[in-house]
Amino acid sequence: MAINSDRDPIVAIATASGRGGVGIIRLSGEDSFIKTFIEKFFGPTECLKPRYAHYRPFKDECGSLIDEGLALYFPTPRSYTGESVLELQAHGGPVVLQMLLRRVLEVGRSSGLRLAEPGEFTKRAFLNGRLDLSQAEAVADLIDATTEGAVRAASRSLNGEFSDSVHEIGDQVIELRALIEAILDFPEEEIDFIQSTQARERMHKIVDDFERLKHQSQQGSILREGVTVVLVGSPNVGKSSLMNRLSGTEVAIVTDVAGTTRDKIENEISIGGVALRLVDTAGVRETQDKVESIGIERTLQAVENADIVLHLIDSTHQSSDEEGQKILEKVMQRVSAGVPVLHVLNKCDLGSTSIPNPNWITISAKTGMGIEALEKKLLELVGWENKPESTFLARQRHLEALSKAYEHLKLAENFVNYPEPPLDLLAEELRLCNEELGQIVGETTPDDILGMIFSRFCIGK
Ligand code: GDP
Ligand code: ZN
Repeated sequence: MAINSDRDPIVAIATASGRGGVGIIRLSGEDSFIKTFIEKFFGPTECLKPRYAHYRPFKDECGSLIDEGLALYFPTPRSYTGESVLELQAHGGPVVLQMLLRRVLEVGRSSGLRLAEPGEFTKRAFLNGRLDLSQAEAVADLIDATTEGAVRAASRSLNGEFSDSVHEIGDQVIELRALIEAILDFPEEEIDFIQSTQARERMHKIVDDFERLKHQSQQGSILREGVTVVLVGSPNVGKSSLMNRLSGTEVAIVTDVAGTTRDKIENEISIGGVALRLVDTAGVRETQDKVESIGIERTLQAVENADIVLHLIDSTHQSSDEEGQKILEKVMQRVSAGVPVLHVLNKCDLGSTSIPNPNWITISAKTGMGIEALEKKLLELVGWENKPESTFLARQRHLEALSKAYEHLKLAENFVNYPEPPLDLLAEELRLCNEELGQIVGETTPDDILGMIFSRFCIGK
């Protein structure tokens, strides 16, 4: 069996499955393939002017009409993939598109045309230098974005701003390293090296720029990954009510995970452009009841995965009980170090007067009182600065590469500050720093990681 090659001509339905006004079938391959395909599919005299829309009939093997629509030809290299591309825009019904796809495959089969794998068009764009790796990833992030903030940040990565920042730092690192290696080759000049090349000043500037990039990327990962907020508290303190209240204010996409009231229920909401996953947990209370104790075990698990724990308390103390306190302590023990816990007093519409702690927030899930302040506090805890114009939609992979690169950079900075800097070690740390940066844009990324990245794309992209 033949193994798929990056040079095979490929085809896929590029638009979403389901019904729509327009559906697009996209082919990519060498120019000779696309030209031959056009002649076979439309007739030997057909000649499509590059990048012009042509209205054409799409016919099956017997010459009967399947549909009519637009044909667009993008000759290499000015196309999405960098190869020659042909797009057929038909009506967007699933059956008509399948018929058209089948016909296209028939026509191209003898020239090796096959169905595209997930992400294969974008992979070719990367292999042909149309996009670097972080831009290619931004294509998928843009498609998957669930908030406006995420869309804007993905667009900025896609147009290369993130890559440019990474390159700018990488270039400075290379320059400094080149200076150092020159000295290593001509050791008699070593004494003046640090002064004459302003190595320390250069190093400080690189570290500054790097820290800014890192911060912008961390902000972006809040946008991309979202934040998990787990609601805990005794039964009847108003967890479900608060969940509904928060969801009602600015719903992005509501994903109700099926379950009973004793299960945890998840809701995805958007506050200030940030996606928050709210997890409502079963009431926290010691119990002999089997179903309920499963609920409690799930609560404990949910708490372990929380970015923020929201502890809800009934301000009228109606629902507090000793057992509840005990198990709540257990919950709090499970909260990982560094995960903030926000204490919120609910039902303040019932006229409770005493606030046990000035840092606690008082709300009423019923009337909406205090909800805005609560949302503000949540964003504060997340560390979200709401500056989308300077945020990069970084992936976990980027953050890891950045922090490894940063470690090498800090070691190098440390060496440069020695009275007699160990130049060979310094040069080596700079080299390692640059190698990690290269992983982000795909210059030094191993093949298996590339494969993994593109296989997570949807088909037709
Ligand atoms: P859960 O068990 O923690 O999910 O609590 P629920 O959300 O189911 O609420 C328990 C009861 O408290 C319900 O009767 C709610 O209507 C009521 N409740 C919830 N929040 C408030 C509030 O802010 N004020 C008042 N007066 N009642 C509330
Ligand atoms: Zn509930």
